[in-house]
Amino acid sequence: MSIKSRAVDFDRLPRQLLIGGQWVEGLAGGRIPVLNPVDNGELFTIAEARAEDVDRAVIAARAAFPGWSKIAPSERGRLLYKLVERMEACFDELAELETLDTGHPIRDTRGVDLPRTLLNFRYFAGMADKIDGRQVPVEPGFLNVVKRQPVGVVGQIVPWNFPLMFSSWKLAPALAAGNTVVMKPSELTPLTTLRIAQMMQEVGIPDGVVNIVPGFGHTAGQRLAEHPDVNKISFTGSTATGRKIIAASGGNLKRVSLELGGKGANIVFDDAVLPAAVGGAAFAIFHNQGQACIAGSRLLLHENIADEFLEKFVALANSIRVGDPLDPQTEMGPLTSRLHQQRVLAYLEVCRQEGNRILCGGGVPEAPALQSGCFLKPTIVEAKPGDTVFAEEVFGPFVSVTRFRDEAHAIELANATDYGLGAGLWTTHLARAHRVADALRAGMVWVNCYKRVHPGSPFGGVGQSGYGRDLGTECLSEYTEPKSIWINYDAQIPPFYSR
Ligand code: NAD
Repeated sequence: MSIKSRAVDFDRLPRQLLIGGQWVEGLAGGRIPVLNPVDNGELFTIAEARAEDVDRAVIAARAAFPGWSKIAPSERGRLLYKLVERMEACFDELAELETLDTGHPIRDTRGVDLPRTLLNFRYFAGMADKIDGRQVPVEPGFLNVVKRQPVGVVGQIVPWNFPLMFSSWKLAPALAAGNTVVMKPSELTPLTTLRIAQMMQEVGIPDGVVNIVPGFGHTAGQRLAEHPDVNKISFTGSTATGRKIIAASGGNLKRVSLELGGKGANIVFDDAVLPAAVGGAAFAIFHNQGQACIAGSRLLLHENIADEFLEKFVALANSIRVGDPLDPQTEMGPLTSRLHQQRVLAYLEVCRQEGNRILCGGGVPEAPALQSGCFLKPTIVEAKPGDTVFAEEVFGPFVSVTRFRDEAHAIELANATDYGLGAGLWTTHLARAHRVADALRAGMVWVNCYKRVHPGSPFGGVGQSGYGRDLGTECLSEYTEPKSIWINYDAQIPPFYSR
């Protein structure tokens, strides 16, 4: 690969755990290699957190909680705004770092990941002093007020597919609401989370308010989920791990919110504006190499337009520029790990065994420069209910196509999944747009667009896609406890027992 990172100063990057304001090694002295998915070369190693390090981090977060939860909310907001300024000043560095760690094309980290991350921190900085309670009209002589208090120490566990953006989704609202945090980034992609934590120190967020413990799921993650002094876990990851989190959290009945997998249906009706739907369907599945929980991974096409749509869609998929993610021309980079590339390739083997017709892609690109990395070609296959790839989350640049007869059939196919995260539909028929959006079993529905996200709008799913929400005022409810306070201000009201 010829294009090299210019903005990242590798010597200054944090490579240890952040606990109580100190950068430290894990007590067991383990190291985790950080690989560049472009060629699987090792960038360097970072310290590995294990259970005992998570314990140290929770103690630090607990110690910081009284101070952080009691400062003026506007001061918490001011510090988060300062963080945004610091991140903006390091825009190129953060974009390149995310690209190196994940394989996301630089045009995406610059154009999507980082702008959305900044918007998110800015939004919740502004929310810090707007988390108000309410006064309930109760019996005369009594005042009832409901305050919202931070839940305490929050454990946050994030996956590898959007590490920078998800760190902001979790950290910003939790901190704005006055909680302290122990975050475990994915062992595969810890770099931007560590760098943001360093910037938090630089702008004056007090020691112990944010603690970062990169480590493996079955050790560090498991300990965080079961820890008796953690009040809430906010988790984003697979449905299988989500089940383990619930089981581990039972000891102290901590709050849990789960953003899990998806199998998004993207429905194109025969009255859709086809060029927009073709481009939107490609964004829905090929952006970020399809490694998105909300990816439009099941394309449902009305039989009247299916052939014409597929001709254009296959041509577009075949024209997507796959290559070095640091090249601004690249539209699809490598998948984030070798293991995951192998997982997606295994689904292609399943397609061959089950007789799914592969319309394009279906393997590793031929270019010699791409052989040692985790690259895959954009892949489109035909599938029907009952086929493995119609049901399971492939989490790659891999979309299944199914034809439908009419609106009822489209809804039936779309809802034929245990997941319920995102879904899309393309139509120019206003009433149909509303009818179908109402009928889809999903936490988010996009009409004539796909994968739109904003910090003010709740993000999450139903069914096996989990429960609870990131973003929106909804997530601030997840990071606060309502407290109902009763005040008797009428001395004439007799107590029940008066003598
Ligand atoms: P994963 O479940 O393997 O890992 C996610 C995180 O959990 C990682 O930090 C991992 O180390 C940790 N973990 C693993 N085992 C654990 C355990 N026993 N206890 C505690 N923590 C543990 O998921 P992944 O492969 O990193 O990410 C891909 C999955 O995440 C996909 O299923 C995708 O759909 C889902 N996802 C969901 C959303 C959403 O918002 N709904 C967003 C992105 C990704």
